[in-house]
Amino acid sequence: MRLVILGGPGAGKGTQAHALCYHLNIPWISTGEILRHAIAEQTELGRLAEPYVEKGELVPDPAMIEFIRKRLQVPDAAKGWLLDGYPRTAFQAEELDFLLDELGQQLDWAIWLDVPEDILLSRSIARSRPDDEPEIVQRRLDLFEERTIPILEYYDYRHRLLKINGNQPPVGVEREILKALNVEFSV
Ligand code: AMP
Repeated sequence: MRLVILGGPGAGKGTQAHALCYHLNIPWISTGEILRHAIAEQTELGRLAEPYVEKGELVPDPAMIEFIRKRLQVPDAAKGWLLDGYPRTAFQAEELDFLLDELGQQLDWAIWLDVPEDILLSRSIARSRPDDEPEIVQRRLDLFEERTIPILEYYDYRHRLLKINGNQPPVGVEREILKALNVEFSV
């Protein structure tokens, strides 16, 4: 299965992505995790991304699109994947569709974890990553509203959007997603 998981910072994407990849036996491709790792290792991508990530800004599209192009062609991605943190802009969403066309693949669903903004803010502040300072969290939330919400429309229009209530305990969210995807489960 080929999935995208969408939601603001603190929506629970990581937790749900982890559970879904376990149930579906597909790789979890988290651009945020990959970038943080690349920064720690000071790879070429890491050095390019660092000034953006530390301010909560988006890494420029061309670098991200190129990265995903390569990543989806690694053999472990042949039978499916879950993208977490990508696409982040409508442009990235379009480019993903072009890439999938080229690869002869199709996205199954874009899962949207719907969580009210005040809850996102308090959840994000409760975490303790270096890019989770209050002003940076606010900036990431603003960017989410501005850049990511149009992606929901993009997928909704293509009948690919699954809206899930993310404002409930993680197991409830997990059940709701698996049910919507028609996956047999016991959680
Ligand atoms: P995340 O953990 O998904 O919230 O990502 C952490 C940071 O990585 C973001 O604040 C951005 O700076 C950067 N980032 C992650 N994914 C993308 C993407 N698809 N496009 C641009 N920047 C990204």
